[in-house]
Amino acid sequence: MTKLFSYRNRPVHLGPYPLEKLERVDSAALDHVPAMAHVSFRRPEDPLSIVNAMQEYQAMLDATRDGLVKKEIAEIPSDLTERANHLKAFGYYCDASMVGTCEIPREAWLDTPLVNPDVDRLADKLRTLQPKTLAAGIDVIMAGLRESMRAPPQACDHHTHALVFLYDMPRDPEPDEVGCDWITDAQDHRTCLRGMETAVTLASYIRTLGFDARAHSMAASDVHLGKLAVASGLNHADGANPFLGNRYGLAVVTTTLAMTADRPLAPNAKPGLSWAIGLSGHTKSRRFADAFQTRKFRDGPHPFETLKRVENPTTYIDKPNVARVPKRANLFARGLFGDMGKTVQEATKNGNYVRKSAAAFAFRPSLGAFVLLQDGEASEVHESTQDPDRNAANIKAALYWLGVDAAGLSACPDWVYYSHDAAGQPIMPYHSNAISMIIDQGHETMEGASGDDWIACAQSMRAYLRFSLLGGVLAEHLRRLGYTARVHSVMDDEVLHPPLLLLSGLGEVSRIGEVILNPFLGPRLKSGVVTTNMPLTHDKPIDFGLQKFCEACNKCARECPSGAITAGPKLMFNGYEIWKSDSQKCTTYRVAQKNGAMCGRCMKTCPWNLEGLFAEAPFRKLAMTLPQAAKALAKLDDLAGQGEINPVKKWWWDLEMVDDGAYRPSAHPVNARGLQKGLDLRYEDQTLAVYPAPLAPPPYAYPYPMDREAGIAAYKAMIPAPEHKARRAKGLA
Ligand code: SF4
Repeated sequence: MTKLFSYRNRPVHLGPYPLEKLERVDSAALDHVPAMAHVSFRRPEDPLSIVNAMQEYQAMLDATRDGLVKKEIAEIPSDLTERANHLKAFGYYCDASMVGTCEIPREAWLDTPLVNPDVDRLADKLRTLQPKTLAAGIDVIMAGLRESMRAPPQACDHHTHALVFLYDMPRDPEPDEVGCDWITDAQDHRTCLRGMETAVTLASYIRTLGFDARAHSMAASDVHLGKLAVASGLNHADGANPFLGNRYGLAVVTTTLAMTADRPLAPNAKPGLSWAIGLSGHTKSRRFADAFQTRKFRDGPHPFETLKRVENPTTYIDKPNVARVPKRANLFARGLFGDMGKTVQEATKNGNYVRKSAAAFAFRPSLGAFVLLQDGEASEVHESTQDPDRNAANIKAALYWLGVDAAGLSACPDWVYYSHDAAGQPIMPYHSNAISMIIDQGHETMEGASGDDWIACAQSMRAYLRFSLLGGVLAEHLRRLGYTARVHSVMDDEVLHPPLLLLSGLGEVSRIGEVILNPFLGPRLKSGVVTTNMPLTHDKPIDFGLQKFCEACNKCARECPSGAITAGPKLMFNGYEIWKSDSQKCTTYRVAQKNGAMCGRCMKTCPWNLEGLFAEAPFRKLAMTLPQAAKALAKLDDLAGQGEINPVKKWWWDLEMVDDGAYRPSAHPVNARGLQKGLDLRYEDQTLAVYPAPLAPPPYAYPYPMDREAGIAAYKAMIPAPEHKARRAKGLA
């Protein structure tokens, strides 16, 4: 939904609601807070309800709400307000609607902790589960989970402070709204699950810093969440929220990490003019709090219905001749096996490129745990699922309601599958349909970042986790309705995502390379896919003029720190017509650079990386209808300073872990780049290498060093699509 006012001057820790405008007092009575809400995820009488599919995911989060505390204590700011602001901003980064802090009042501890009975059920399942997946470290994840589920819960009443996360709700589905068969009467469950995703991540983060922390949900808790929401100034003493009334869900982290507490609300505190019109730059105002106030759930928050649909993607795919490659050809796998040399191997080993950043590593345990749930057996087919149109509408509405930013449906052709899995076994394509999803990496944090500093890796991990959770719930639901369905996540996938995003109309190929650019999110996204045999109606590809735009715009190539993005034309690679980047340079820089963790600078600096303001509409309109104006628009983008760092938005700490010790402020100068407006990058001056199928490693787990000279020769041998087609016609290619 387009906003009228920019949030560029609003620090991230203030959040999307104008909480700072509310009147405060020094203390609040907690005696009138309603009884603690308890959410159950068992609804066997209603097999169509998605609540049933959330059950194991909520149980997994509740099972991992505690964990080992790193014994080396991190070097973090001693200023208690800086700590509170940092942790609140982290909560907002994870899309909490409101975050408050408090010292834990004695009466907030529950006499009898709330226990989620589904955790035991999940533990039983994990005891017998033999994961088919061979994702890295899966045995370690399994062992850790089994161990933690067996251990008796430790008391946490020595925790002194609480972080309270409040999640708002979209409107309720209308009684006959098409697409809403699965999502009625499930708002508490949605907010419980989403709140706990954030609480588990933040608790994991705080433990990584060396302080004890535990997450608490509306299904498993040691504390009264409602009382803590009052004590931290989010809610009134009767449990009502000044902006939302009773339409919210809560999650909490309790911890030994001291921080400044927020003050409780004054009894008469109520939103003023700022809430009505959004003057202070907050993204939520009475009018703009819920994208679905004016839209159907099945259509999503962005106006995809306004885009031109076409029969074929705007880039050529030689479908009969796409070369399938083994998973072993994935650049991270190649790094791990030493194909790119010792430095890259060391940086990739044990996920060190993630581990070195405290903020990024916070997401890793949940990502690993969800791998265990991403596949399974199908139940009996439910009679209501025979209509492909109805299935498509239900899938999209459920995903948008859960919080996916865009979803598209397509066939899942054989050529999108890898040829061999991680163990070297051939993959026989098994599902004919694909549900592709994209998750926004977050404009606000991107504004404060260089794209390759100490938040870059966390930006990827946050989006990957969101997909693993929401895509996982959907796949589980489809299995319960009688269809096989498999999640293809960053941790373990068997299909290539970019062609599926193209086929399902979620974007077009961009100059960045394998990155598909969406007209509403730009390239600032991560993708995930669920494949299934459920019958569903397909979407068509979209054409919003990006091929011409990227032809004329070169900004990402100019700004790429590793020089991996081509300034030249689209060429044929493995059957796809793309701007092929040098993935070796890109991966080497991303995993082994010392001045940050990972890199997404191309996303940061692209003119399509927009805030979503009404004022940006003319750019989008012009770019779509007159892509020849790209050069001028890219220049204007430079002149407007788009792609520069906005220091107001920097909320994270530049912490680095060295040699498995404590996290400390990085000893390396932090990447803080400005735009290279004066650089005239020329294709003729670039030396790029590519590794098409004939240069891919065999599917097995042993080293196969990259031959860069052969890669450079392969780049030079790539040809444009028209030439490729002509050769094919003559039977030459
Ligand atoms: Fe295309 Fe320019 Fe964005 Fe690169 S920066 S993806 S060339 S629009």
